[in-house]
Amino acid sequence: MSCIIKKNLLLEGKTKKIYTTNNPIEVLIHHKDDITALNGLKKKLLQDKGILNNEISTLIFKFLNSCGIKTHFIRKKNNREQLCHKVDIIPLEFVVRNIVSGSMSKRLGVREGIDLYNPIFEIFYKNDQLKDPLINDHHAVFLKIISYEELNTIYGIISKINHILKKYFLDKNIILVDFKTEFGRNHKNEILLSDEISPDTCRFWDKITMKKLDKDLFRMEKKEKEEVFDIYMEILKRLNVS
Ligand code: UDP
Repeated sequence: MSCIIKKNLLLEGKTKKIYTTNNPIEVLIHHKDDITALNGLKKKLLQDKGILNNEISTLIFKFLNSCGIKTHFIRKKNNREQLCHKVDIIPLEFVVRNIVSGSMSKRLGVREGIDLYNPIFEIFYKNDQLKDPLINDHHAVFLKIISYEELNTIYGIISKINHILKKYFLDKNIILVDFKTEFGRNHKNEILLSDEISPDTCRFWDKITMKKLDKDLFRMEKKEKEEVFDIYMEILKRLNVS
């Protein structure tokens, strides 16, 4: 395994920092302890959350790689960092919904918890000024962010990921309610699953108690930070039981 040298800070987002390395086609992704919600309006530090999310996301990406999904993930470097293929992130969030919750419930005025049977895909335009609006395929193509062909490729990939992860989590008594994915293009213009998959980006409900096991606890008022941390720990513990 070649030696990786961390070089310059390339980008800093709400919860991660990306560094260049001595290899121009690889980056180091560092998970911070920040936790944010409501488009960054609510923001706190949750000590060691970055360590948990790095580990949780590593387990999930390793599993997806082993199932033949092309991802940016190469390997975990240390407790906060992963070595990943460098990609240009496509500024779209692809949300997959199995059960009605969150913004879909509010937008359509339907109660949380309805089983969708046929998963619903949504795309949000990553644009802080516009507050990440929900858009459709035609808007994304009009904005020259992506082609119809690439959209179809990504819909195929997220459908496969949903199929794989629903079963993966159900085996650990976790219902995968919904989740957000991001994709990027590598130097060969191939589309790779990127970013992270963690309790920050998914809704998880306990199969038996239906208790929320994700960032929704942080979105709620009156929840102590410790309670949020314990839930992330609980997810990691369940993923580590095979
Ligand atoms: N999500 C995310 N980042 C975002 C917005 C949403 O990871 O910037 C995830 C969220 O955790 C949930 C899914 O995408 O698992 C759907 O979120 P929703 O549209 O319901 O929005 P929210 O409730 O976050 O406002």
